[in-house]
Amino acid sequence: MHWHKSESAFFVFIGVILAAAVVTVHAYGIANDGFAAIAGGAGAVENDYLRRLLFAIAVLLATAVLFGVLLIFPLIRRQVSEEGKLREMTETLSARSITLEQAALTDALTGLQNRRYFDDALREYMAEFRRIDKPLGLMVLDLDHFKQVNDTHGHNIGDEVLKAVAKCLQDLTRYHDVVARLGGEEFAVLAPNMDSDMLLKLAERIRRAISGLVIVSGNVRLRVTTSVGLATWNRKESKDELVGRADGMLYEAKRKGRNRVCA
Ligand code: GH3
Ligand code: MG
Ligand code: MG
Repeated sequence: MHWHKSESAFFVFIGVILAAAVVTVHAYGIANDGFAAIAGGAGAVENDYLRRLLFAIAVLLATAVLFGVLLIFPLIRRQVSEEGKLREMTETLSARSITLEQAALTDALTGLQNRRYFDDALREYMAEFRRIDKPLGLMVLDLDHFKQVNDTHGHNIGDEVLKAVAKCLQDLTRYHDVVARLGGEEFAVLAPNMDSDMLLKLAERIRRAISGLVIVSGNVRLRVTTSVGLATWNRKESKDELVGRADGMLYEAKRKGRNRVCA
């Protein structure tokens, strides 16, 4: 059994009182036998008084022990158990707040990061990369004619498509790339240390991989394509300007007929 500090201190306290009681009982014994013989008739009154004093001390010490064990100890135990419960609750709550924090930054359907995480990451990467003079690539993707997928096959199959695309994005990107679902059927990849050539190659690979996906659900088999807009940070523009430029390229890809990359 594990004792709390206050409980251990209490046991020491009771131990000291008991030791004092033992010493007192011993002194009482001496007073009873020894003193009478030494003092003889002359000291009999004082000796009797000393015995009574020692007896009174023994009674007081015994009362202190009883009081401690019956009243103080249960109070200490209760306080310790309440404290333990509080600590448990605090731990559960902080574990829950970590989970909530993760949930607040994750897209529930695909498990990718959400827009909020993406915005924070982009801001932080820009601040960091401003110092170290490294390229920062941004890719925005939007599935083509996705409304038709939903209208033809239903929302559930639409969701399956979104999950398959998310998995494909995760498979083709690197550990430190930020892959996010910005909303609906729109995704983004933030690729640190990637210049425009590398970014274009990656985007082409992703576009091709998505167009090669076959989503199977029951007896439905379908394919989707995606349009991609790219922008590499020019180190002068703001976060919104960079995203706006990539969005402009995405719009261009849609306008030119979809299933393509524009940079
Ligand atoms: P475009 O090629 O121009 O991008 O056409 P689109 O049909 O993909 O674009 P539009 O913006 O008209 O439609 C997007 C559709 O995405 C509309 C909506 O039904 C669907 N959508 C948005 N969020 C979800 C989702 O969470 N699950 C499913 N299944 N569909 C969604
Ligand atoms: Mg869209
Ligand atoms: Mg779309």
